Amino acid sequence: MPAIDLNRCTGCGWCVAACPPHVLSLHVLPGSGWGIKRAVLDDATGCTGCALCALRCPMDAIRMVRRAPKT
Ligand code: SF4
Ligand code: SF4
Repeated sequence: MPAIDLNRCTGCGWCVAACPPHVLSLHVLPGSGWGIKRAVLDDATGCTGCALCALRCPMDAIRMVRRAPKT
């Protein structure tokens, strides 16, 4: 699943558009008075791990990480 580096993310939305199951969206950062948006994985269970979001990100802000195995 994707790990999004919020310091690199510009909120461009390319990853949101690229995600087939639409589990990514842009959120306004809490406490950002200017309404700065960043990409957030809304539904981790819906993520297929396809990595299209990471490929699409122009800022190289998305790293694919292994999900911890369910116990
Ligand atoms: S594509 Fe990259 S920079 Fe753009 S919103 Fe997604 S994570 Fe942020
Ligand atoms: S890995 Fe695929 S399914 Fe998961 S958030 Fe990225 S584009 Fe969407």
